[in-house]
Amino acid sequence: MPSVSAPETYFTRLLHAQAAPLLIAGPCSAETEEQVLATAHGLRALGRVQLFRAGVWKPRTRPGSFEGRGAAALPWLQRVKAETGLPVTIEVATPRHVEEALAYGVDVLWIGARTTVNPFAVQELADALAGTGVPVMVKNPVNPDVALWAGALERLERAGIRDLAAIHRGFSTFAPSRYRNAPTWALPIELKTRFPHIPLICDPSHIGGRRDLLLPIAQKALDLDYDGLMIETHPTPDQALSDAEQQITPQRLGELLQELKYRYRSSDNAEYRNKAEELRQKMDVADREIIEALARRMSLVEELAEYKRENNVKILQLDRWQEIFASRRDWAGRVGVNEKFVAELYKLIHIESIRKQTEILQRPE
Ligand code: PEP
Ligand code: MN
Repeated sequence: MPSVSAPETYFTRLLHAQAAPLLIAGPCSAETEEQVLATAHGLRALGRVQLFRAGVWKPRTRPGSFEGRGAAALPWLQRVKAETGLPVTIEVATPRHVEEALAYGVDVLWIGARTTVNPFAVQELADALAGTGVPVMVKNPVNPDVALWAGALERLERAGIRDLAAIHRGFSTFAPSRYRNAPTWALPIELKTRFPHIPLICDPSHIGGRRDLLLPIAQKALDLDYDGLMIETHPTPDQALSDAEQQITPQRLGELLQELKYRYRSSDNAEYRNKAEELRQKMDVADREIIEALARRMSLVEELAEYKRENNVKILQLDRWQEIFASRRDWAGRVGVNEKFVAELYKLIHIESIRKQTEILQRPE
């Protein structure tokens, strides 16, 4: 939840309106008037959805895919509002989209992942949005670059847009993954650290790409203190014209909301507080020991580098590095520490060792 001192925005008001996380749902694409209205009525009946989403202009990876109904779908969203009272949100990628959406009274706009990557496009949108007062959500860029995501939010802030939210929809990777878009949780956490006043919403549909992954992803987001969820819903998901594998019915969304565990941010229970405080103090001690051990290791690296310098020996000894990499993983496994994690840690330690040794070997006579 954004810090209490931050001013209220459209999104913080939605957040404060119910005890549970902000919930955005609706179809990937607006396909027909009937489909849009059936979804909206199904979602309205859950009594939990606060914003109805639908894609009107669809950015598709390959030509020939269904690219959305375009402006023809905008009156259907007006009907959603009139019949269900739900505010509506769509993706915009150009100033013309903004103009048409606003002409039809769309309440909230979002910038899609394929647009956030392009600062020219984001700036054009920021200029078109300036002074309109319309709330805007910004999806992460498709590539894992937190600066581009932050840059898009900054362009909107500079255009005077105060009602902002960020949507985490995962990142493209070349490596095979169980996810459609790798969540890479460290990136949205970094964004949240830089923009604590901007609500962060998770889109498990585009991260998972599969119905069975929605629950674990949404649960993780809630446990990481996300402010809301955006979930794609369709009355007949298997027949959806886009993203069929990841959409669920409004009824299934209702069940999913029941299956989620809503945990407290903290607890006033004195016993909990004492125990948590005790464990945190022990962690502080352990962290100090880690840092002292690193200091010891680095001073050994320096000593070795001086010795290499005296003896005119190169920095990188591949055999030694391979041996370190394998043995540390092995040691970690034996004491029950995740081997992959330790491998990553040692890559960083190795980079730092090389940096230090380079400094010493290249020091002028
Ligand atoms: C969508 O929300 O349907 C969509 C196209 O999302 P993204 O921009 O995250 O791919
Ligand atoms: Mn979609």
